[in-house]
Amino acid sequence: MLKTSANPDSWALIYSSRFESFSFGEEHPFKIMRYRLTYELLCELGLLQCPDVRVVECPLAPESALSGFHAPGYVATLKEFSLDETPRANFRYGLGDIENPIFPGVFDWALLGCGGTLEAARLVVEEGARVAFNMTGGYHHAHAARASGFSYLNDAVVAIQDLVRRGLRVAYVDIDAHHGDGVQEAFYTTDQVLTISLHESGEDFFPHTGFPHELGEGDGYGYSVNVPFRCHSDDLIFEQSFRKVVLPMLKSFKPDVLVTQMGVDTLRTDPLTRLEMTTGVIEYAAREFLATGIPWVCLGGGGYEKLNVARCWALLWSIIVGVEVPDQLPPGFVATIQKLGYADRILRDRPHCAQPNDFARAQEALDKNLAILQRRLFPLHGIVPGDCR
Ligand SMILES: [Zn+2]
Repeated sequence: MLKTSANPDSWALIYSSRFESFSFGEEHPFKIMRYRLTYELLCELGLLQCPDVRVVECPLAPESALSGFHAPGYVATLKEFSLDETPRANFRYGLGDIENPIFPGVFDWALLGCGGTLEAARLVVEEGARVAFNMTGGYHHAHAARASGFSYLNDAVVAIQDLVRRGLRVAYVDIDAHHGDGVQEAFYTTDQVLTISLHESGEDFFPHTGFPHELGEGDGYGYSVNVPFRCHSDDLIFEQSFRKVVLPMLKSFKPDVLVTQMGVDTLRTDPLTRLEMTTGVIEYAAREFLATGIPWVCLGGGGYEKLNVARCWALLWSIIVGVEVPDQLPPGFVATIQKLGYADRILRDRPHCAQPNDFARAQEALDKNLAILQRRLFPLHGIVPGDCR
């Protein structure tokens, strides 16, 4: 059971200056600097100085925590490759290619992701933190014995397994632009963990999975949920999906703990994706997750335009801690990003709608996918199609 805290209105942010000692390489789209930028923006906005906010040092996960999901041979290889700068690769394990490069300390980098998410889960279930946010978590593409999509170890899976061992029911909601394939795969046959992923359609997009007919197997049938978006889907498409699928499923499943992957590569200015969303979807999702009242382990995720990452996660955190923030970036942060070549001053995006033709095609695709879920999924959970409110 969850421990109730004397101070349930507490929020924990997991962070470490150690993150900056790692690099995927200059040419790689995954920029570790995004975490420091986010942290600096949180400081400039005064969002870490609020009462009841704790900043917790991100620990390394113990290697023993990995054995419930990751194959020993894969872990041993990742660890060995991590020791020095000798160029090495094992393509069976997805290690050492352009996508998942081997860099010095990559094993510790991955252990920090897992350690942060395990710590976030512990703070929520043992110490009564209302929300714990591990921005360096959410590596949802890592498989049991294969690195994929910039993910080496699957922190969400490792932490959810820990929560399940404590007898807790967990809902995992993934709003990254890419399907949360590694997490879905890990819990595909169990009804103890509900996984929901909203993402750009895998028809011609990595990781090419996450279709509505992927509903789980055996005991897990009806506990894997996918809402793929057509390219150019915007905030309106996202909010409809959230209202019509995510909220009723959470209401029906009644989880003890909510784990969310808050990837921000859905934004229209992300260089790797084709969706047209704004910071509005992050604010909307944050408000809705918070309103469920479910203890919340919040994780980072994708986002390949580093200023977008800082802006979105600062807005997310402002909603978590209940502090209004202005539409403009604070002057101190503007000075910081000017040195990086940014002229931007906007914290919160202006509203944006897709072009009418693009929107019509996105709506048509969504309606088709919702019809599949309404026919095959909702009856299993006694959900009547339509908005939950
Ligand atoms: Zn992504």
